[in-house]
Amino acid sequence: MDYDLILGMIRERFGAKEGEFVPLHAPTFAGNEKKYLNECIDTTFVSSVGAFVDRFERDMAAFTGARRAVVCVSGTNALHMALMLAGTERDDEVLTQALSFIATCNAISYIGAHPVFIDVDADTMGLSPRALRRWLENNSVRDAEGVLRNRKTGRRIKAVVPMHTFGHPCRIDEIASICEEYGIELVEDAAESIGSFYKGKHTGTFGRVGAISFNGNKTITTGGGGMLLFNDEKLADFAKHLTTQAKVPSRWEFVHDHIGYNYRMPNINAALGCAQLEEIDGFLKSKRETAEVYKKFFEGEPGGIRFMAEPANSVSNYWLNAVSFPSREERDRFLEYSNDHGVMTRPIWELMWRLPMFEKCERDGQENTIRLADTIVNLPSSVVRRNVNN
Ligand SMILES: *Cc1c(COP(=O)(O)O)cnc(C)c1O
Repeated sequence: MDYDLILGMIRERFGAKEGEFVPLHAPTFAGNEKKYLNECIDTTFVSSVGAFVDRFERDMAAFTGARRAVVCVSGTNALHMALMLAGTERDDEVLTQALSFIATCNAISYIGAHPVFIDVDADTMGLSPRALRRWLENNSVRDAEGVLRNRKTGRRIKAVVPMHTFGHPCRIDEIASICEEYGIELVEDAAESIGSFYKGKHTGTFGRVGAISFNGNKTITTGGGGMLLFNDEKLADFAKHLTTQAKVPSRWEFVHDHIGYNYRMPNINAALGCAQLEEIDGFLKSKRETAEVYKKFFEGEPGGIRFMAEPANSVSNYWLNAVSFPSREERDRFLEYSNDHGVMTRPIWELMWRLPMFEKCERDGQENTIRLADTIVNLPSSVVRRNVNN
């Protein structure tokens, strides 16, 4: 396989000349970003008070179909808050995937809970409902009080955190029904999947609470930021309370009724978010066109490189396009060649149980997880601006 053909195709798609660097994912600011940021500065509302926060929450609820949305300072904070709202406590176990960005496990760890790693599906790269059921059947038991526990450790099994990898929805409806059957909370890590739908429903809206990220490399950005998605009004109100220092409303008294968090997104970031969300349809269209270009190219190419197309029953946002190589050696050869020649590509994250903090965590066979970790490469996936503006 001639790697120059691949790099040529990528450069052509992004309008980059020979020698011009192609990043993996750069943000696009082509709308009202400057206007809204200027409004913040002109009115002095840059911080914890201002109209853009409320508007961004309303706009995100409308876009995702969630009943309510609540801003956070980051996607990681949003996940931490989501797990707390789902009732996760110290020493609980949380079932999740090892094939994820570190933030998923960090959020679980902030609570003092323990991740347990369940395998992913080979096509979605997200948590496998079959593997989840198999693990629960073999490892869980209900105690005399009706609490679901891990047979070996005796710890309570509290929540499942599936992740929609690179924007491809996992089999979330099957996971939701397993959670219901076993009485486990479903918390979706939808950090990467704004604009991704499973059977017509937006990712992050299937469980008790979902978390989205607006980090600089995500599909839309607020600089840094996150959003919680809810179907439950009361829980959303409580989230708002906890993310704003749990202050009891009063004209001047400082009274607080919980350990609260300063997790509220500043108005200046929300201003950026409102402007970005206005542009999202064009962004998604451009990303889908890029995915089509990649898909066509690799269909016609020998060499066993496979494009990871959106799974059945779903619409992916194609946040980061991915291909799989026949072997880890070939993957490494391509990573080296492309990065040496000005086209940024990346392998998937190091698996969580290969990191020192999580190496002792329980896990199942991890067959698909290991294969994907060995073979997946992300290709440049930024919005192509000429697509958006015409
Ligand atoms: C980006 C990301 C996060 C965290 O988001 P931040 O906004 O960077 O804190 C969490 N989980 C996954 C899977 C992510 O990709």
